[in-house]
Amino acid sequence: MGILNKTERLTDVHKKWLAECVCELKKIATQGVPGHGNSDADIVFIGEAPGKKEDQEGIPFVGAAGKFLDEMLSSIKLNREDIYITNVVKYRPPNNRDPLPEEVLSCANWLKEELEVIEPKVIVFLGRHALQHFFPNESIGKVHGKILKKKTRIGNFFFALYHPAAALYNGSMREILMADFKKLPKVLEQISAKDATPAKIGGQKPASGWKE
Ligand code: URA
Repeated sequence: MGILNKTERLTDVHKKWLAECVCELKKIATQGVPGHGNSDADIVFIGEAPGKKEDQEGIPFVGAAGKFLDEMLSSIKLNREDIYITNVVKYRPPNNRDPLPEEVLSCANWLKEELEVIEPKVIVFLGRHALQHFFPNESIGKVHGKILKKKTRIGNFFFALYHPAAALYNGSMREILMADFKKLPKVLEQISAKDATPAKIGGQKPASGWKE
């Protein structure tokens, strides 16, 4: 068999984890919701966990929060084909409650492996769950709209945003999120390909639940 391209490698990652993931949520969710989008993307967005619509369709961010995200993408002349989007937890928590630490842990290597294939220039956190998976001591209120740097095996540049679902019905948060979002093209411009290359050896491990 020849060398697999990124799309094929990602398909393999998702197939493997859909079969092997031992998350308790798997027993009650309709289906797993793997990451989706461009396997060569410069930007990867990471949300929290699938909601009702995502659970039904098996694709991340297809509900109301996803529609808002699409509007913001189009405001910076991007669409879903330009980016890759995934979640910290790949199965829907009941009644959309916050994911538990053990649920985050059981999906952690799935997330790590998809990021290792894509090697994006920048990883964008949608909300505090994604942020705190990588930076457990940071708060979204403090670092939203800012670049965070850390040499890791999956990327060196991170950018934090409020979660679109939290901002949907909160006027002031919505304004802040849209203003932060508009910084993304500049953020990408500032990151050179060389600086963005993930540290393969000796890079610092991303935070909580990260297993080698
Ligand atoms: N919210 C998330 O965090 N992820 C989704 O996929 C949908 C809504």
